[in-house]
Amino acid sequence: MLNERALPRIGVLAIQGDYAAHAEALSETGAIPVEIRKPDQLAGIDGLILPGGESTTILRFLEKRRFFESLHEFCLTHPVFGTCAGTILLAREVRSPAQRCLGVLDAVVERNAYGRQIDSTILTAQTELPGGPLEMVFIRAPRIVETGAGVQVLALRDGSPVLVRQGSVMAATFHPELSSDRRVHKLFVEIVASAA
Ligand code: GLN
Repeated sequence: MLNERALPRIGVLAIQGDYAAHAEALSETGAIPVEIRKPDQLAGIDGLILPGGESTTILRFLEKRRFFESLHEFCLTHPVFGTCAGTILLAREVRSPAQRCLGVLDAVVERNAYGRQIDSTILTAQTELPGGPLEMVFIRAPRIVETGAGVQVLALRDGSPVLVRQGSVMAATFHPELSSDRRVHKLFVEIVASAA
């Protein structure tokens, strides 16, 4: 049996969006999920997921609660994983429209960039993760339009990165928590476990 104390504690920013599905995915991949709503809770976790949702709403909440600065500090010192709106928050620049971001992922992100017809879709595509093609659920997804040299691209959609890693920062423009395939969360849990 696994020793509970050996499992990494991974926070899920639980302000808005689909944080519950992430918590479940973390339980299934060898981590203890912790819902995070206040800056002082960051002290008790080894890594953090910034879920999908509406980045503007999440950002407003962070600014209103004086949470933005402590979250920024946390991202500079711990593994973090942003999905969809979370990717928008982690980026170094956000376009269409521009909005404030944490700047910890060397990427430029364009919001709602896939157009109306196909703005929400499920694709199966190749990935660098072992185990073959991966199902990807896109919901009003942003597009990563630029990445820095230190950013490793793990999957593409129409030539744009959709899953990336920069050291202990991971980002997906899709929603891995909505698929039953747990390889993406597994990778993040491994990153957190080796950093802790
Ligand atoms: N369109 C949303 C935004 O710009 C992101 C959508 C999502 O997280 N599924 O914040």
